[in-house]
Amino acid sequence: MRAAALSAAASPEPDRDCPLCPRLHDFIAAWREREPRWFNAPVPTFMPPEGEDSVKLLIVGLAPGLRGANRTGRPFTGDYAGDLLYGTLIAQGLARGEFKARPDDGLQLVGTAITNAVRCVPPENKPVGAEIATCRTFLKPTIARFPNLRAILTLGSIAHQSTVRALGGRVAALPFRHGGRQEAGGITLFSSYHCSRYNTNTGVLTEDMFVNVFREIAAFLQG
Ligand code: URA
Repeated sequence: MRAAALSAAASPEPDRDCPLCPRLHDFIAAWREREPRWFNAPVPTFMPPEGEDSVKLLIVGLAPGLRGANRTGRPFTGDYAGDLLYGTLIAQGLARGEFKARPDDGLQLVGTAITNAVRCVPPENKPVGAEIATCRTFLKPTIARFPNLRAILTLGSIAHQSTVRALGGRVAALPFRHGGRQEAGGITLFSSYHCSRYNTNTGVLTEDMFVNVFREIAAFLQG
């Protein structure tokens, strides 16, 4: 199913001026005027220095935060969600170095890549269905570019559903749940509540819950 569902022909990264989602394109254009020093473009997948062949785990977030990844140009860099995510990755041996919330902090991923279901910052942090579907044009070849990929971790239900569809699965058959582990398109799909400040402040996601998901993934990857 994996080969049939995924096409490596398309580019895994949108152009800097990607016009496919007019609302997101216009939103970014307005922020380029307002904050010309910010990244203000589709945020590319964060790769480990060892390259595509080394990637066994892909993490799929929702979309860049306005003052986080949209400002810095690296997924989960510059907002609260990144503090929890990168701290946990370092603790589990999936990243090395120190996370200083800057793209030049020298942090390196280990066997892991990080991307977003939607590459452009959406107004109010909320991409609409058509934007999620359109950006799957890039999610599919992103998944396909890693020949040794064994697992995907989706953060939140939107990332989960878009990833299931990218893998050729049916969302009704592979529903989102925190701590979920399912097989889809030859890949083991783990899912967690998104590590947003909102989810941690409201107790939907505790640090222990998040760390436990990563412990399970680390054990799976070593097995
Ligand atoms: N930053 C990202 O890059 N993705 C998210 O989902 C949240 C913050």
